[in-house]
Amino acid sequence: MDIPANSHRRNLQAWPGEDELGEAIASSGGKVVVLASGGLDSCALIGCLAHTAAEVFPLFIRNGHPWEDAEVAALRRFVKALAMSNVLPVQERSLPLRDLLDVHWHGSGYQPGFTEGYRANFIPGRNLALLAVASLYAYVNGVTAVALALLAGNPYPDATPHFFSTFEKLFAEGLERPIRILTPFTGLSKEEVIRAAEALPLELTMSCVNPIDGEHCGDACNKCAERQKAFALAGIADPTAYRNTPPQVNWKTHKWPD
Ligand SMILES: [Zn+2]
Repeated sequence: MDIPANSHRRNLQAWPGEDELGEAIASSGGKVVVLASGGLDSCALIGCLAHTAAEVFPLFIRNGHPWEDAEVAALRRFVKALAMSNVLPVQERSLPLRDLLDVHWHGSGYQPGFTEGYRANFIPGRNLALLAVASLYAYVNGVTAVALALLAGNPYPDATPHFFSTFEKLFAEGLERPIRILTPFTGLSKEEVIRAAEALPLELTMSCVNPIDGEHCGDACNKCAERQKAFALAGIADPTAYRNTPPQVNWKTHKWPD
């Protein structure tokens, strides 16, 4: 995929929470590790952090999921296209969990279908595992803040303010150094993130659990559905290249099942 010229694409729209993020980054010394999946939300977060932090450390963590090659390729494309010198090259670390998760899913695998609700995407222990690696990565690199791109309405038990404050205490207890967990998008919907970050090369991001040759499936997973709905609600043409033609859905009246 060609990477478009991007010098005019770095400006962000104002978004609620950006001032608080700037203050948090400043009080953490200007450096931040960002848990980056290559998805739209975490790539937008990299773009936002690049405007406020002295150094942004994008970190991709492999747990053994089949979509990770497509995700990390997208993340690398996005960071290259962003072309901001304070965003450091993408780093990968690995914490294999697939065998445990296969037991959890009873060998059926993990692929929520196009019409399934958000709860079907729960991966047990995900934020605990990711934050453990990201925080240790921050620790050894002299960074005291880790950011992740949780959105409003996240229903999972490891995505609550209490969970993150408890994790901060646990980390400080175990490593005798403070860590700040930043979740600046928790007041935003995905369509609000898209509006704020429209100028970024969002078409290079990847959020599909059924990618085909590195492209979004378009019609067979609820991450593609979520993406299509968010662009529709944002009122912005979806720039994503889908392998298969997305189903016709009236997203304005659509409701996810519980
Ligand atoms: Zn998909």
